[in-house]
Amino acid sequence: MSYDKMIFEVSVPDRVGYSLPELDVDKKGLENFLPKDALCDEELDFPEVSEVDVVRHFTNLSMKNFGVDTGFYPLGSCTMKYNPKRNEYAARMDGFANIHPLQDESTVQGALRMLYEVDGALAEIAGMDKMSLQPAAGAHGEYTGIVTIKKYHESKGDFKRDKVIVPDSAHGTNPATAVMAGCQVIEIKSNDKGMVDLEALKAAVGDDTCALMLTNPNTVGMFDLEIKEITKIVHDAGGLVYYDGANANAILGQVRPGDMGFDVIHYNVHKTFSTPHGGGGPGAGPIGVKAFLKEFLPAPLVEKDGDRYYLDYDLPNSLGKVKDFHGHFGILLRTYTYLLTMGADGLKKASTIAVLNANYIQENLKDDYNVGFDRICMHETVLGGLKDDHGGEIKTLDVAKRLLDMGFHPPTVYFPLIVNEALMIEPTETESKDTLDAFIEAMKQIAKEARENPEELKCAPRTTEIQRPDETLAARKPILKYGDK
Ligand SMILES: *Cc1c(COP(=O)(O)O)cnc(C)c1O
Repeated sequence: MSYDKMIFEVSVPDRVGYSLPELDVDKKGLENFLPKDALCDEELDFPEVSEVDVVRHFTNLSMKNFGVDTGFYPLGSCTMKYNPKRNEYAARMDGFANIHPLQDESTVQGALRMLYEVDGALAEIAGMDKMSLQPAAGAHGEYTGIVTIKKYHESKGDFKRDKVIVPDSAHGTNPATAVMAGCQVIEIKSNDKGMVDLEALKAAVGDDTCALMLTNPNTVGMFDLEIKEITKIVHDAGGLVYYDGANANAILGQVRPGDMGFDVIHYNVHKTFSTPHGGGGPGAGPIGVKAFLKEFLPAPLVEKDGDRYYLDYDLPNSLGKVKDFHGHFGILLRTYTYLLTMGADGLKKASTIAVLNANYIQENLKDDYNVGFDRICMHETVLGGLKDDHGGEIKTLDVAKRLLDMGFHPPTVYFPLIVNEALMIEPTETESKDTLDAFIEAMKQIAKEARENPEELKCAPRTTEIQRPDETLAARKPILKYGDK
C-alpha cells in the first residue's frame, strides 16, 4: 500500500474497519424522532478501509512533518524550543478543558486564578504593570499594543500622531502592524554594529511620532547598548516605545523592557514560553503595559478582590475587545505550567543557556561562514553565507537545502534583510552540546563540499520528496487541493 495516496484512494468497497453488533433500535422510530431535514438520504462517501489501513495512513502522514519532537529546528526568530509534555497534560485536565467561558465566575475561580497569575508573572518578567491576555498571536498583540498607544495619544486630544518608526532590521509584522493600525511607517537605518542609528532616530522623531517599535536584543541577535538613550529620544518627542517581545528568550530574568524605558510589550508565549507553534496552530500574544496605559487595554481584565478573582468590564476608555472571550485559554494554561515548573531561577537559567548555545555555534562556524556582526550575540546568531562560496556559486539556499539531507531543519534564511545571504540560527536552551556539535559538524561538512564538490550541493536535497520547488510560485500560487496541478 502506498502511503502517498489519500485515504479515499486506498478505499476498497465493503472493506470495513470495525465490527459492531446489529442495530437493535427501530430505524423507523429514529426517523420519527429526528427532524426530517436533519436526515441524510444518500449513502455517505466514506473511505472503506481496515483499521490497520487507517492507523498506518495517519501515522505515516504525521511522520512527513518535521518538528521539535523529531529533530533540531534552529529557526531564528521563531524560538523552536521543546514543549514539555506536562504542559499538554495540564491543558487537557478536565477542570480546565471542559469549562465554558460563559459560566458564572463563582464556578471558575481556578481558571480565573490561573489567568490572573499568568498576568502577574508575565508583567513581572517584562517590568510592566498589567497584561491583556486577549491577543491571539504576536502580530495581533502588536496591533493591540499600537492601538492602545493611539488611544493614549487621543485621550490627550492629540490626534496627529500617526507615524510609527521601525528600524530596517525589524520583523515584517512591525511595519504591517503600523499600517493596519492606520499609521504610516518611517524606516530608520541600523548602524554598522547592527544597532539603531541615534542620529537617524533623532531626525525621524517629531510631534507626529506615535511610537517606535523595537526589539532588544534586536532581530540580528544584538543587544542595543544605547537603549536608554533611544527610549529617551522618543519620549522627549512625546512618542511611546513599543517592545516586540516575540523572542524574549535572551532576557528572561536578565533585563526587563520596562526598565529599559519601554511602555508596551507583547510576548509570543508560543515561542518563549514553550507552547507548541508552527503550521498556523494557535498561539497567544499577550501584551503588557505601564500603569498609565492600563485604562486603554481590551476589556475585560482579570482582577482579584480579597480571595475572589473576577473579570473587570468597567473600563470606559478601553479600546474594546480584540478576541472572543479571554484569548487562547489553553495556550495560556501551557504558559502557566511552564512558568510554574521553571520558576524564576529556571527561566533565568534557560536564557543564560540559550545565549551560550547561540554563541557556541557562532564561534564554531566563524572560520567557514561570514558572521553578520562580529560581537557576542544573544539568543540567536546571524551568519552571512559561506566564506568560500566557490566564486559566488554556492548560496545560502544551497546550504539550507543540503541541511535537509543531513536531518536538520534549516535555520531562517535571507532574513533579516540587512545581512547578505543571511542564515539566522537560534538553537534555544533545549539542545544538548552533542546536538549542537552534530549541527556544527554538518555545517562544516557543507562548507567543505562547497569548496570541493559544488555541483553536488546544487542537487541537494536528495532525500526529500520534493527537492526544489519554485519558491515564488509556491508562495503566490500554492496548490492547496489534492490532484490540482
Ligand atoms: C514571530 C514574530 C512575530 C509575529 O508573531 P506571530 O505569533 O507569528 O504573529 C513578531 N515579531 C517577531 C520578532 C517575531 O519573531
